[in-house]
Amino acid sequence: MEYVFFEGDFVPVEKANINIKTNSLHYGTAIFEGLRAYWNEEEQQLYVLFAKEHYERLLRNAKALFMELPYSVEDLVTITKELLRKNGVKQDVYIRPLVYFKDLALTPKLIGYTPEIAIYTYNFGRYLDTSQGIRVKVSSWRRNDDNSIPSRWKVAGAYINSALAKTEALIAGYDEAILLNSQGYVAEGSGENIFLIRNGKAITPSYNEHILEGITRNAVITLLKNELLIGVEERSVARSELYCADEIFLTGTAAEVTPVVEVDNRKVGNGKTGEITSQLQDIYFKIVRGKIERYKNWLTPVYEK
Ligand code: PMP
Repeated sequence: MEYVFFEGDFVPVEKANINIKTNSLHYGTAIFEGLRAYWNEEEQQLYVLFAKEHYERLLRNAKALFMELPYSVEDLVTITKELLRKNGVKQDVYIRPLVYFKDLALTPKLIGYTPEIAIYTYNFGRYLDTSQGIRVKVSSWRRNDDNSIPSRWKVAGAYINSALAKTEALIAGYDEAILLNSQGYVAEGSGENIFLIRNGKAITPSYNEHILEGITRNAVITLLKNELLIGVEERSVARSELYCADEIFLTGTAAEVTPVVEVDNRKVGNGKTGEITSQLQDIYFKIVRGKIERYKNWLTPVYEK
């Protein structure tokens, strides 16, 4: 039986339903997160990656939408571990927490409603092709601006922007979209942050480029600096720089570290996964599975030993 955490209890997934009149369904007034847990076969252990950081972001975002939950970060980590144990998860898994207003009410507002949290697990493998790399298209859609719907928050309704861009890219035969912000600078992918490598240095759009404050982005900055000894510039990136980059990769919980091998029909570098990208992938995939001792503090073990 598959369990879901729903309205304060672990219930079978068939019982975790909401009414068609639910406010958040109509206005996208919900905040969500995406976490991954990785199975380590030798240790027979499941590791949740950045559990604390994801729930900190969830609660921070929820607070901004006047959604005060009766749970702390520690409570939510404990609930997640219990959910994974109840479902007997012994493979890589994706975890989706969702905070929404359960009120059956029609006004698009953020006050006077009751927030609720649901958490479920989802078996999905690679989100994008991390081995061969992907082809991307600069979208005709602009990233939503901080003064309209902040990209900094994982607001459900904001993802119409991602959905429009991703759909346009898929219909045109590409794997993913890169969105520019309203100033015309590179923001991010539909569900990933972006990095460029130029002349042995890494460049990524800074937080004020209307992007999500990605947790993988932060982790990758640490790894580039401390493990690969590569400088990282956080700054504005022009579209034309994408066409001059030696390497490009996307980062995200779902996307992990995904090489970009083509942008708008131009090869990135020689059109294959770049050297730095490949070194980064190597260390990232070891760390997330608990294979590098000094990074074990990024992980939360699920099973008692
Ligand atoms: N940007 C957007 C728009 C996203 O949806 C995501 C996925 N959460 C990311 C970036 C990457 O964020 P993270 O590394 O925290 O998963």
